[in-house]
Amino acid sequence: MAAKKEKKLTPMMAQYVAMRRSLPEDVVLFFRLGDFYEMFFEDAQRAAATLNVALTKRHDVPMCGVPHHAAQGYIAKLVKAGIRVAIGEQTSTPIPGKLVEREISQIISAGTVDDINLLDDTKHNYLASVSFSGKRYGLACADHTTGEFTVAEFADKVQLEDELKRLSPSEIIIPDDQLNQLGGIAHCMPYDGYAFIPEQAEHQLKDHFKVQSFDGFGCSNMTAATSAAGAILHYLIHQLRRSCDHLLKLAVRDNSEHVMIDSASQSNLDLVESRSGKKHTLLHALDRTATPMGARKLRDWILHPLRDLNKLTARQDLIASFLEQPYLLNQCRDSLKKIRDIERTTGRLSQGSGTPRDLQSLGLSLAQIPTLKDDLTAVASSTALAGHLLDHIHNFDELVELLESALVDEPPAKLADGGIIRDGYCPALDEYRTASRDGKQWIAQLQESERKRSGIENLKIKFNNVFGYFIEVTKAKADLVPEDYQRKQTMANAERFITPELKEVESKVLGAEERSKQLEADEFTKLRLQVAAHLNELQETADALATLDVLLGLAETAQLFQHTRPLIDDSRQLTITEGRHPVLEQTLIDEKFVPNDTNLNHEDSRLLILTGPNMAGKSTYIRQVALITLMAQIGAYVPADAAHIGLVDRIFCRVGASDDIARGQSTFMVEMNETSLIINNASDKSLVILDEIGRGTATFDGLSIAWSVAEHLHDVLESRTLFATHYHELTDLSNTRPAVQNYNVAVREWNDEIIFLRKILPGSADKSYGIQVAKLAGLPDTIVNRAKDILSHLEMNSSKPDAKKKPRAKNTKATMPESDTPQMDLFGESSPSAS
Ligand code: ADP
Ligand code: MG
Repeated sequence: MAAKKEKKLTPMMAQYVAMRRSLPEDVVLFFRLGDFYEMFFEDAQRAAATLNVALTKRHDVPMCGVPHHAAQGYIAKLVKAGIRVAIGEQTSTPIPGKLVEREISQIISAGTVDDINLLDDTKHNYLASVSFSGKRYGLACADHTTGEFTVAEFADKVQLEDELKRLSPSEIIIPDDQLNQLGGIAHCMPYDGYAFIPEQAEHQLKDHFKVQSFDGFGCSNMTAATSAAGAILHYLIHQLRRSCDHLLKLAVRDNSEHVMIDSASQSNLDLVESRSGKKHTLLHALDRTATPMGARKLRDWILHPLRDLNKLTARQDLIASFLEQPYLLNQCRDSLKKIRDIERTTGRLSQGSGTPRDLQSLGLSLAQIPTLKDDLTAVASSTALAGHLLDHIHNFDELVELLESALVDEPPAKLADGGIIRDGYCPALDEYRTASRDGKQWIAQLQESERKRSGIENLKIKFNNVFGYFIEVTKAKADLVPEDYQRKQTMANAERFITPELKEVESKVLGAEERSKQLEADEFTKLRLQVAAHLNELQETADALATLDVLLGLAETAQLFQHTRPLIDDSRQLTITEGRHPVLEQTLIDEKFVPNDTNLNHEDSRLLILTGPNMAGKSTYIRQVALITLMAQIGAYVPADAAHIGLVDRIFCRVGASDDIARGQSTFMVEMNETSLIINNASDKSLVILDEIGRGTATFDGLSIAWSVAEHLHDVLESRTLFATHYHELTDLSNTRPAVQNYNVAVREWNDEIIFLRKILPGSADKSYGIQVAKLAGLPDTIVNRAKDILSHLEMNSSKPDAKKKPRAKNTKATMPESDTPQMDLFGESSPSAS
């Protein structure tokens, strides 16, 4: 950068260039210059465009700047655009003619921002780090806003990437010497490989946590994970210059505890995001949490369902006790609604960046705890989980009292505004305040007495930052001023004076104000340190409150939508009576949701083949089964009259390529990759949802693939499987396979129209109704009628005259269909793709 110009640089520019050199290439340096942050050279060019500020030039140096007081908004814009911002602050008081000292105070990056405007309350903001060591992939994740710090290890890269998709970090670092192994990870940024070297990382971690070994964290032998974790600390502390004091422990995320949901299944099931909008996600349908901590935890639970029967039963028990006492459920939820983001507030306060309002909101939140604990004890103290939560929700009576007595009722947003500390809390502060108040009053009285003394009616005592207090008299009356007035300034139509007496009181007033501000700042720091002293208990409390909040929210949802407690066990059963789609039942406006039963079991019904016309409700039904299962495995009640769910180890959900064009990668290859993931990973404990698999290729190819996949799932993997397909031929599998069952979605024809009944019935569908659906979709009559003609013509000429009525009757031998059936092509490919 600007190397050739360096010789001519002023001392300040030299300081700038040196500072910029010490920083990574990609950051933009905000260089503090009085009331502005200035950017120079390439930084200015990059930032000006993103920030939409004027790019100027001085001595050929491109530059732009933003006012210091508005910097936060500009920083937010850059960070949002993926640019890291380094803050170069002034660290010495400006003295004319001397170069002000400057230092980098911190670098702000997407994974570490604490600007409330950039953060989503309901989502963690993760910085992740990935490392490859000993043939394993290590992942560490830190939420700098809350202090959460976790590690995990994976045997293969696909699993690692799935977990990354679940956690969706805002920033990912990888060792710059492992670009071969890890370079393909989306949105990753290379960072000094030295920080990832196991010994170095271990040292960094041990030093940070002040421990001799990682036994206490349960990750002693997880070298890949600890190397990633050590690197995160290195990055935060050394490159970003952040304090990590609030990262108090390292928790291991054990994948074997969770129901694995790969990233394709995650999107196909619309768990936390949906192409149709937030409202159409499972998260949205279940989220009745009252606090941001709860909302974040629910998201985490949905993406990491459990396999442990005991843990799930414990969650169910707690929900059950509250549902038995709805009054107390409401009362607890009311308490929770008064609780703010304890996690992030504590995070900010312990980092020194909190505001007076953070302190206040923390106090108000913690004040809810005693009532909440009483209620929880009354309702559920007999359940194991409630006992655990009660142990982890601490009382902070002293802190609450302290904050209450110290803070005014409505503290200002910023410390600098002053007026934070309540009268009577700090005697010294009270004295200064009295002095300043009395002084001001004295000055007000002085105006009266001076008017009398001088006889100048409109004499005023005013204040400005240049002279402090002064007496102002209009030009016309200036001759009347008493002799002891000293002239200070002559204005266009007024004269300004001071008197020794006035200056004496002024110094008391201003001195007192100055000192009271300082004292307030000191008191604020003391309070903040008090909070920091309770960091551990506060984090533990916040976490337990989050769990309680999620469970009470689930209880509330259960109550609102008549969800019932599923029977869960380790069987391979999946029986649902009158099940509903948890999201659709809440969002359907025109239609009422039609419930359906499901009966999957290992012995005689582990593969369900579901046929029926487009738009009938196939996709909805098979997803509903997956979502109900998933809900049961986060401990929730489920939208059904009854359910018996044998716990699953993985949930797969595949959508055939042509049904999935909107995903922008609708190639047959992707579909097959995803299918092979199932074939290679599913077990007899898994739940597999296949929606129109094999669609992305020619009909016979597709059918053959669908057929062999279905056979394999039934014969070899023995997973519980729901297979929605337009390949009616597949229903023949039930003739040769003991545990294949056919179902179809009922429709009725009426006046040449098709009516969807949304009922799942045993047996296979009799025809495709493609033309009726096309008509429903608004194709003009001319087209529809012509299609009917062609269809009947095709059917007449077809070598199999009964193809229309019973497309599968010809295949009772369960052989592969013959290749000269024109009917399939027409129906397979021409029916409008509905979902
Ligand atoms: P398919 O996969 O058979 O083409 P979908 O499952 O996509 O059909 O369903 C099409 C539409 O029908 C859905 O968007 C939904 O509005 C409606 N639907 C599906 N199942 C039901 C149901 N059980 N009750 C009410 N409406 C339903
Ligand atoms: Mg469908």
